[in-house]
Amino acid sequence: MNVRERLEAMLNPNADGLLPCPWCGSTSVVGPGWGVGQCAWCPDCEACGPRGTQSEAIAAWNSRPFIRALLAAIEQRDEALADTCDLSSSSGATMPRMPKRPGSGTRA
Ligand SMILES: [Zn+2]
Repeated sequence: MNVRERLEAMLNPNADGLLPCPWCGSTSVVGPGWGVGQCAWCPDCEACGPRGTQSEAIAAWNSRPFIRALLAAIEQRDEALADTCDLSSSSGATMPRMPKRPGSGTRA
């Protein structure tokens, strides 16, 4: 699993619509009682998100600005690399080959 896949997994909600715990990664996060002043809660590390109404607590728990910013930065990097180094076969361009190191064999 690469970095992007790990970050995307952190934005994958469970059946209750809650993202994995940002502290321990557990996907068993629940909202105990769901009333005014409740919070999303991780039974594995006992982390509790910001309190509020159910919708406020879910929104606060699921707010992951750093992960979204990292994914946006990765996307920008990939687009910049694609612009710099067009590997599509339709362009007719070929990548220069690295010279072989002396003594290196060929892989089967
Ligand atoms: Zn946790």
